[in-house]
Amino acid sequence: MPKRRTKSPEPPAQPPRGFAAIGLSPITLAALEDAGYLEPTPVQAGLIPRALEGADLMGQARTGTGKTAAFAIPILERLEPHKAKDPPQAIVLAPTRELAVQVRDEFQKLAKGRKIHIVALYGGKPIRQQIEHLRQGAEVVVGTPGRVLDLIDRGALSLGGIRTVVLDEADRMLDIGFRPDIERILRRCPQSRQTLLFSATIPPPVMRLAERYMRDPEMMDFSPTDIAVETIDQYYFTVMAEDKFELLARLMGRESPRQAIIFCRTKRGTDKVHLRLAKKLSGVACIHGDLPQKVRDRVMAQFRQGTVRYLVATDVVGRGIDVTRISHIINYDVPQFCDDYIHRVGRTGRMGGEGVAFTFVTPEEGIQLTRIEMRINRLLKRQETADLLMHRLKPAPQRTAVAAAAAEPPILEPPLVEPSEPAPVASEPRRPVYGRRQHRYRRAL
Ligand code: ADP
Ligand code: MG
Repeated sequence: MPKRRTKSPEPPAQPPRGFAAIGLSPITLAALEDAGYLEPTPVQAGLIPRALEGADLMGQARTGTGKTAAFAIPILERLEPHKAKDPPQAIVLAPTRELAVQVRDEFQKLAKGRKIHIVALYGGKPIRQQIEHLRQGAEVVVGTPGRVLDLIDRGALSLGGIRTVVLDEADRMLDIGFRPDIERILRRCPQSRQTLLFSATIPPPVMRLAERYMRDPEMMDFSPTDIAVETIDQYYFTVMAEDKFELLARLMGRESPRQAIIFCRTKRGTDKVHLRLAKKLSGVACIHGDLPQKVRDRVMAQFRQGTVRYLVATDVVGRGIDVTRISHIINYDVPQFCDDYIHRVGRTGRMGGEGVAFTFVTPEEGIQLTRIEMRINRLLKRQETADLLMHRLKPAPQRTAVAAAAAEPPILEPPLVEPSEPAPVASEPRRPVYGRRQHRYRRAL
């Protein structure tokens, strides 16, 4: 029997576990409890202690692994006592408005019980209001690089008091072309600052940024070797471009997703798919960079609530969307970059949930599919379009069709289409499924 200290009424059951073991303040522990965060995620357990010590860190982890709290907690813990109008002590740069808002909200959740202000700075909203918020004082600012620079140039934001800079989704910010803005912002922060960089991937441009603007950064890699998460079933269809929409509509009918994001490559494509799909299904919305901020905010709120069930989106905006109910990802267009595939697919299966992803590949895009497979070190499983698109196939000779119809039970098991969609015409000749040989383009590589 171990000796007990007389003072403690209960035996010290076990050493502190979870967040308490990291040595966080009671106020943060209370906020975490309120948030329902019982255990740190691996990224949090790995990063928080080192960040608390002030080290410069590069964290590589896929989306949905809890990176926000991994930087927000040490920032909050390290805040210096301050006066109301002191300049900000921490700045987080994020690639999109949606992410900036998401990070701000997570920060606020974790800052519960502290009297501090966290302000999001992003374009598309009147700058006046943000200037006013800054004037009232903010300990932490979260923003997109463009708007942050704008506010600096207007004299509304001073970075002289910054102690920690976070570059969130650094790879994406560089993809979007924020490099010069980021560099200008970093140059305005005190040299003695701590810099934390987060990225799902660390390609050479991210590495160069780190080498230039960080002090001996420690690289912490939490990416699994199998980058796209285990719990996500990943399939592809080989489909002609002109059949994609039909395939989408029928696939949605077959799968009946809880919530789905349909990724398109261009804004125009996104609009088109949205308009066509909205004619067939209810709860369809779209989001891309050309839509006014108000509309984007509304659509995101509706998607979070679940009133929007199908969200058609571009990569830039769709990335980082954190909605746990998403069950399906449809890559209506093959992503342009392999990393986008990982980001898109990472929208489902959040926090270990189940998810499924379907990628539409035209016969010419075989090489892109192979690149993705090499990147994620895994083969996507092939699905045949034949069941879904049989009505598009040329009618088979009459004899076969009749024989097939007579001999075969219907292949369409769960109803393929939502009730609003007319069922396939009964008299339509049904062709037996012999699609397996149709598309062999890709594996030629
Ligand atoms: P990332 O930035 O890595 O994509 P986020 O920080 O957005 O991930 O976190 C993903 C989700 O997980 C969010 O909904 C967040 O509230 C939740 N989350 C983060 N940490 C924990 C935790 N320790 N326990 C439970 N949920 C968590
Ligand atoms: Mg994040």
